[in-house]
Amino acid sequence: MDMTKADIGVLMGGWGEPSFRVNQVYQWLMRGVPPKEMHNIPKALRERLDVYPFGGAETLQKHPSRIDGTVKYLFQLGDGELVEGVLMRYQHGNTLCVSTQVGCRMGCAFCASTLGGLVRNLAPGEILGQVLAVERDEGGRGGQRAVTNIVLMGSGEPLDNYKNVLAFLWRVMDKEGVHVSPRNISLSTCGVVPNIYKLIDEALHITLCISLHAVDNALRSRLMPLNKTYPVEDVLKAGADYAIATGRRVIFEYALIRGVNDAREDAHTLAIRLKHMLCHVNVIPLNHVERHTPAGVTLTGVSRSWAAKFVAWLQEEHISATLRRRLGADIEGACGQLRRRVLSEQSGGG
Ligand code: SAH
Repeated sequence: MDMTKADIGVLMGGWGEPSFRVNQVYQWLMRGVPPKEMHNIPKALRERLDVYPFGGAETLQKHPSRIDGTVKYLFQLGDGELVEGVLMRYQHGNTLCVSTQVGCRMGCAFCASTLGGLVRNLAPGEILGQVLAVERDEGGRGGQRAVTNIVLMGSGEPLDNYKNVLAFLWRVMDKEGVHVSPRNISLSTCGVVPNIYKLIDEALHITLCISLHAVDNALRSRLMPLNKTYPVEDVLKAGADYAIATGRRVIFEYALIRGVNDAREDAHTLAIRLKHMLCHVNVIPLNHVERHTPAGVTLTGVSRSWAAKFVAWLQEEHISATLRRRLGADIEGACGQLRRRVLSEQSGGG
């Protein structure tokens, strides 16, 4: 699953296979089908291909929400590691949220994904495998794709696994493969500034989301340790440069934490910092995660009505902002929580 069509062409060409076979194999792979099940391929070739580790992702558990059409997935990778994904249904299509790392080393104070640190990076085929597993699961309705939009917002920091994430993006956009338009792809980062610039150089034109959550350096550093390396001014500048280079507005994510970043004054400071930038603010009340900050303080979210007020304050200052819809509230939609529960059950933690 990590191989491009060209890679497969070189491999199979070396075996003297004709190019139509390469096409067939690639078509199967782009449906997430392992060699054993490639029915129109001769047995000898299937066996030859099957020697290689497959490298995709398999659906281990599926939790459909009873409230809305959201489905939470737990995927298993070749070495048994687990990652999460979420399929969200909107009027304009279905958005799949995929993971880019097992765990995360960014250490954000409010995030469940980072609690056990980074286990490992996902390979390109393992990120793609999540998309294909969901496609298979949704049953490829009359040749139509089930996944129309992709967000790299599951566990992990995509820009901390830059090379593999880029390889995934090129693969998923491939016309002969899944063929998702870059306009329908969003990548979320906690602010790995040098790699935002690398992304600008790639000229991919995907939507960039930046997890901001605070514009004061002391506060942001407490919430998001990476801010000590790349302070908020640099993050905002990189966001603005991305918007200028791509002509696409940058989305800033802002999770409201009660008594921490939720006051009218915070909205005002945020508005000042974002003025004149081609951007949009996605406001979300912090999801509760069982954990304590190093200072021993539990972080809690605000009510939706408070969050709506915060959005209105931003709008009053002419900042484009919306309150993010709450989907899958009953299925641990927030990243990292399902995996943690399953791991703790496996280890007898309950
Ligand atoms: N590492 C990337 C992408 C993964 S997280 C990033 O930081 O952007 C996806 C989003 O969920 C980020 O905006 C993150 O800050 C946010 N998030 C993490 N834990 C959360 C929580 N408990 N409540 C609300 N949002 C949370």
